[in-house]
Amino acid sequence: MDITSLLLATGLSLLFLVVVFRPLELAFPAKPNQRLFRPRWLLDLSFLLGQYLLWNGLLFLCLGYFSRSLTGVVPREFTSAVAAQPLWLQILEVILLSDFCVYWGHRLQHRVGFLWRFHSVHHSAEHLDWLAAHREHPLDTVYTVTLINLPAFVLGFPLETLAGFIAFRGVWAIYIHSNVRLPLGPLHAILGAPELHHWHHAKDRDAGNYGNVCPLMDLLFGTYRCPDHEPESFGLNTPTPTTWLGYMVQPLLPRLRHHAADRSGEQPEAELQSERSATLTGGVDEPVDYRVRADTRPKQSAAT
Ligand SMILES: [Zn+2]
Ligand SMILES: [Zn+2]
Repeated sequence: MDITSLLLATGLSLLFLVVVFRPLELAFPAKPNQRLFRPRWLLDLSFLLGQYLLWNGLLFLCLGYFSRSLTGVVPREFTSAVAAQPLWLQILEVILLSDFCVYWGHRLQHRVGFLWRFHSVHHSAEHLDWLAAHREHPLDTVYTVTLINLPAFVLGFPLETLAGFIAFRGVWAIYIHSNVRLPLGPLHAILGAPELHHWHHAKDRDAGNYGNVCPLMDLLFGTYRCPDHEPESFGLNTPTPTTWLGYMVQPLLPRLRHHAADRSGEQPEAELQSERSATLTGGVDEPVDYRVRADTRPKQSAAT
């Protein structure tokens, strides 16, 4: 794709996102006082432009490399049998398989110190909306997109089955970050709503709700959390960079420098304990009891 087509595609995608999500945010706001041009919107726009103009190409290269490397790992008889199943069954299997992989992959991002370095970029957003959904380190995006799609590719699900689901999952991932609170009624048991993902972005590294399209895995594994109000605030308890370039570079810095930077700020004892635990256990924190956490509800937000 030449640069003109790339710029045009980026502009059209941005227009699509504004036209689809901004009216929803105005009609059903989760935080009614939040403006379109809220603090750090320019930073999040930089992340969006970085994704469209720089990193999507890298992502396709990585996916192509991984899928070529793993071709033939699964016997041809198995992949042929997978592709021969009815379409409805294939779609159901792809949803469950992808959700299972991304759920556990996401929990690892919150437990393993090295993965958290990159994933914490996404969690540093203090205002959630459709634009903040794009705040991700490119290596974090490669990790997540690979986990979501590669197992289904390798097992032989045809691209026709996957294409629609990939597109739906991409749009849904943006929707759950939007500043929207729109009750789904009975569908809330099978579709993850923004209210669930907003609690995932509460200032707690172990906040639960690791699934995005479907909350089934959170319900199964005890990490589902859905208070009847919005979190008071979003973001991290540690200092964060102020520029896009800073966010790109900080996770790549040596571990000691990274920790020193954390501890120079106002890091609470619980966060320090979590970091120490990650070090002592080779990068994996202790398990968390979500039944206890679900009962400790913060006060009602003044903004809702
Ligand atoms: Zn997360
Ligand atoms: Zn998120």
